[in-house]
Amino acid sequence: MADMEQRLPEEILKTVFGYDSWRPLQREIIDSILSGRDALAVLPTGGGKSLCYQVPALALPGPTLVVSPLIALMRDQVSALTAAGVEAVFINSSLDPDERRGIEALVRDGAVRLVYAAPESLATDRVLSLFNETPPSMIVVDEAHCVSEWGHDFRPEYRGLGSLRDRFPHAVWLATTATATARVRDDVTRSLGLRKPAVFLGGFDRPNLRISVEHKHELRRRLVRFALDRAGQSGIVYCGSRRRTEDLAAALSSAGVSAAAYHAGMATEDRTRVQEAFVRDDLLVVVATVAFGMGIDKPDVRWVVHADLPKSIENYYQEIGRAGRDGLPADCILYYSAGDVFAASRFFDELPEDQRQAALSRLTAMRDYAESDRCRRALILEHFGEEHEDKPCEACDNCLAGPRETVDLSVAAQKLLSCVKRTGERFGASHVVDVLLGVVTEKVERFGHESLSTFGIGNELGRLGWMALARKLEASGHLTRDRERSTLSLGKPAYELFASKSPYRVSADLVGLAAGTTRNGSHDTNAGVRQTVGRRRSQKTRLPFSTTGDDVDIGAEELFMELRSLRKRLADQSGVPPYVVFPDRSLKEMALRRPRDAETLATIYGVGRAKLERYGEAFLDVLMR
Ligand code: ADP
Ligand code: ZN
Repeated sequence: MADMEQRLPEEILKTVFGYDSWRPLQREIIDSILSGRDALAVLPTGGGKSLCYQVPALALPGPTLVVSPLIALMRDQVSALTAAGVEAVFINSSLDPDERRGIEALVRDGAVRLVYAAPESLATDRVLSLFNETPPSMIVVDEAHCVSEWGHDFRPEYRGLGSLRDRFPHAVWLATTATATARVRDDVTRSLGLRKPAVFLGGFDRPNLRISVEHKHELRRRLVRFALDRAGQSGIVYCGSRRRTEDLAAALSSAGVSAAAYHAGMATEDRTRVQEAFVRDDLLVVVATVAFGMGIDKPDVRWVVHADLPKSIENYYQEIGRAGRDGLPADCILYYSAGDVFAASRFFDELPEDQRQAALSRLTAMRDYAESDRCRRALILEHFGEEHEDKPCEACDNCLAGPRETVDLSVAAQKLLSCVKRTGERFGASHVVDVLLGVVTEKVERFGHESLSTFGIGNELGRLGWMALARKLEASGHLTRDRERSTLSLGKPAYELFASKSPYRVSADLVGLAAGTTRNGSHDTNAGVRQTVGRRRSQKTRLPFSTTGDDVDIGAEELFMELRSLRKRLADQSGVPPYVVFPDRSLKEMALRRPRDAETLATIYGVGRAKLERYGEAFLDVLMR
């Protein structure tokens, strides 16, 4: 860097990165670092963690060492920085010996601002000795939860990082992660030897994600329709099995959607090829098992679909979190059927008992989420123990659906409650429902329950309908479930329901369960969730121009498409992903504001000095047509 006097963070933000304002906590984190105090930053995915160290890296005198676990991620970060005119390099096993020597020389000469390195390469002296002359001013540990055995992604190589403290006693430290419980936070602080770190906890809410759960029927047709409606947008479909990924990828491809499968059974080269093509917009849709997504930080993934039920809310939130990291609207749809719960829980059978119980309760939380009619956002935030305002979010299916039609299910509720009572409050929902439906199981015979007055009186609902009603009654306190044995007993409100005339009303969708279900309990995939399609606002928007999908200026839309193809050409020429040239949001602003000179272009989001120099002319050419 030519100018060695300390530059203001705001100035760096604008001239280097082309941004006008900070995301929450970024400025505070940067302040802490510049004042020499270690920091631990827990920000959600897309919260802008990288900038928290990239900006101070340009203000501090010495280089910044960034420890990062994922090679693909390092490469992308370095190309993004290079495009912004920042001297950055990475050192890892993917470099060939010549390249590596060249890069090492640069670092040794103090010619780079940011050095990304994998944790294992820091265990040897080769990399560390590069800093003998110019020791790092800052050490950043990205994905810091990897240091903790309590985290979900423990990496033993991270354990040794604490020793860097002795080697570089004057460096200030920043640890960043998107997921950290209090326990993991303590672990990170201790293992890395952070000194009285300032801890920053960002909120988990991602207001730009539009979240919904839809009825899983005709999955293939609906998914194809959904993807076709989003021509030109990148998306990920998550599936529970390899076979499903291949099946859906084939269906999408034959409908003309650029799609490919991705799963652990594929050869490594093939997987790398798919991932690379996706990042470069040569491939728009990846149909994947959960193995996909770790280590790509493509900011413009516009939608994430779950074709099968995720194993937990944690998994689900992490996966939809890959959408819309650029802050623009993105759609997240979970296709759900009650049958999925049974299908998924079968995989737990081989687990040891305690693990099986834990897996089951995570899955149950996921099911309750899918079946709930409350704000999805509120449910998620509550799951993560975060406070939130009690008002509709306007961006989930349940909030957009408005008040729901309800029906009176008092009689069915009374039947169910009295069946619980007659069987002695010692059985789980499944047996109680067998009795209501008049199914003669071994258990029914053993306890003589076919002689009860409630035996076979439950024709108005199917099995899944009764099970869902039991869960509702549990949620409303009419039933209490024993945590260990899952047996049901009556709660106080149950007696009030027997006595009073006040009706027990539930959402009309619950009744839909009866129709789709057979009495012998086979799992009809149609039962379980209301259909939201007709009721949701139209989502025909092809481009992320407005959050509501209305009022898209057609001229701007065409211009956006042209700017996109220009971006793709420039990106291919320099061998970087398109978003490294400019993010979608920059192109969107250009298309709407149509700058006609370099000065105005520089005021557009994401247009910093280096990019203006490199790409300004090409973009102005298109803009002035
Ligand atoms: P994460 O916290 O998931 O690592 P990133 O650092 O990858 O998030 O940031 C996500 C996206 O947001 C990137 O494209 C980044 O350039 C952009 N971004 C970060 N900070 C800002 C900001 N202050 N203004 C505008 N865009 C920002
Ligand atoms: Zn909501």
